[in-house]
Amino acid sequence: MDYPGNLFVIAAPSGAGKSSLVKALLAQDARLQLSVSHTTRAPRGQEQNGREYYFISPAAFDAMVQADAFVEWAHVHNHRYGTSRQAIADKILAGADIVLEIDYQGAMQIKKLFPAAVTIFILPPSWDELKARLEKRGEDSGEVIALRLKNAAQEVAQAPNFDFVIINDLFERALADLQLVTNVQRLRYPAQRRVRPDTFQALRLP
Ligand code: 5GP
Repeated sequence: MDYPGNLFVIAAPSGAGKSSLVKALLAQDARLQLSVSHTTRAPRGQEQNGREYYFISPAAFDAMVQADAFVEWAHVHNHRYGTSRQAIADKILAGADIVLEIDYQGAMQIKKLFPAAVTIFILPPSWDELKARLEKRGEDSGEVIALRLKNAAQEVAQAPNFDFVIINDLFERALADLQLVTNVQRLRYPAQRRVRPDTFQALRLP
């Protein structure tokens, strides 16, 4: 296959609302499939192994790194997170459109490996709002929130390196923007040709 499914890489500082947006995007678009990452952090709240993440020990993570099992991985907030080859290989071959919900370091690694990947950065409307959202989530200790806020400054500074920037002020507006980006990507010549090969052949297009 000369052009596999579209790859959408979505990054944001924690608290920008990325997970809720991605969840809503996936619920409304059956062609999108989420890549499930591996992490060394412990599950939070209702999270389930194999659904939000594969929760593994640092030793198991090391073993996967040694075995070259990750397409990308990074240290984020004192833990390690990675996208396994397995998480995307089958889906890419099946021609699915894949969503990677990862940090900016992972996003840049993916863009290098797959230049056709579309990178999207989600910004909060302000620092105050970001802090308020992190505190409201109530899932993390004060110490964890402070670390995430400190890291957020570094994360937000990466926005200029992304293809698209979406400001999550109003949730519905941000979701519509996200849908717009995924749909626009699907109208690109190679993406259309992959989905509608008969039409292109009939029109004698390369
Ligand atoms: P959380 O612990 O809040 O679920 O995630 C923390 C950060 O790690 C988020 O920015 C999340 O997108 C990122 N992350 C999740 N999975 C991966 C991954 O596979 N690779 C990388 N590089 N970052 C990830």
